[in-house]
Amino acid sequence: MIRAAAPVNPLIQGSNPASIKQTNLATALRIIRRGGASRAEISRQSHLSRGGLTPIVNELLAQRLIVECESVETDSGRPPVLLRLNGRYAKVICVVWIRDQAAVALVGIDGSVQSLYQYPFQGGERAQDVIDMIVAEIARILARERDSLLLGIMAQAPGPLDAMSGVILNPSNFNGWQNIPLVEILSERFPLPVFLENNLVGAAVAEQHFGYGRDIADFIYIVVDEGIGAGFVLNGQLYQGKSRQISEVGHISLDIHGEKCSCGNTGCAEMYVTVPALCRRALQIGPAQSCDWAATLREVLRRAEQGDAACRRALEREAEYLGSLIVTLINIFDIDTVVLGSSITAAREALQAPLTRYVAERISARPMLEPHIYFSRLQRSSIVGGALRMFDFYIDGRLGTYAQVGERSAKALRAFAAQ
Ligand SMILES: [Zn+2]
Repeated sequence: MIRAAAPVNPLIQGSNPASIKQTNLATALRIIRRGGASRAEISRQSHLSRGGLTPIVNELLAQRLIVECESVETDSGRPPVLLRLNGRYAKVICVVWIRDQAAVALVGIDGSVQSLYQYPFQGGERAQDVIDMIVAEIARILARERDSLLLGIMAQAPGPLDAMSGVILNPSNFNGWQNIPLVEILSERFPLPVFLENNLVGAAVAEQHFGYGRDIADFIYIVVDEGIGAGFVLNGQLYQGKSRQISEVGHISLDIHGEKCSCGNTGCAEMYVTVPALCRRALQIGPAQSCDWAATLREVLRRAEQGDAACRRALEREAEYLGSLIVTLINIFDIDTVVLGSSITAAREALQAPLTRYVAERISARPMLEPHIYFSRLQRSSIVGGALRMFDFYIDGRLGTYAQVGERSAKALRAFAAQ
């Protein structure tokens, strides 16, 4: 099957040093990670002869980064041996700290979640309590793992955050917690590479590998919950701006004569499109009142189903406001696929048809471009995507050479096994 994904560089042949070897290993891994590949398929995609490929595959097998599996496709004779990533050996510790809970998971490089510890907030926790929980759980994972390759720790949180220095800045509705230097805190405690990214980034990458973004080179991923953010996958690569923040599409103005937004602009999308904005319209909830918004959305959907006029109207408005934002983004990027993620996905049945209709009627590129709007069906996408991101860094050499990553992992496991 031919897939439109990230362009893969051809394997380099020649008699050059270790960097060429690592480049070739990385190229093979990029091909194999797309759901597995036979030797013939890797050879075809990498333009390297089977003979030239053999030492590369043997090296990956020896390093236990890949395993051999029998293919189930038996259309012509003996099935080819499929090479897959070895998620039971190479793993990433993923930390996701969001508004209502923190989670620590051990995830294979193939996206398999192998352990997951969730810590729902009761209210009244200090930031230090959450940090202590995260540190304790990571230490437990390190003590438990004996024979694994741990690539590092990928932490994710809502924005705004400073991905460069690894600091959670001042996310709204984040229990007043701010300016948390999470990378520094975890790096001091654990001898592993630590990164901090927006949790939307992980979710977008998971969607690219396992969701509606699979096999699609360009799509826009929009999270709609208590805020709005967007990630753009362009030519198979996640686009990241200069400050490595996500796109602040929530502050695109939908009404220049609207209310003043806290960002300084007027009539921002965030004031109309978020799940709280939808629920407030439907149930006349005052601006000062807070709720469990995911549960409130379910209530709005239930009432709309039963014919409640205000709830139905609020959902129609949501299709218009969100549709207007999507029209703007499609007009800028000339992309036909949009995937919506997070709590808004509960409203798939109510929104998909009116939203698609609204967008199709208004984008400039109609009728050449037919918009496809999907509601993500993935679970735990930030956690899974965090591991995929770290594996990207590993392949790209951002974590050092493969040998260095191996030595660092072994050292960390020894240190914590002894504790
Ligand atoms: Zn704004």
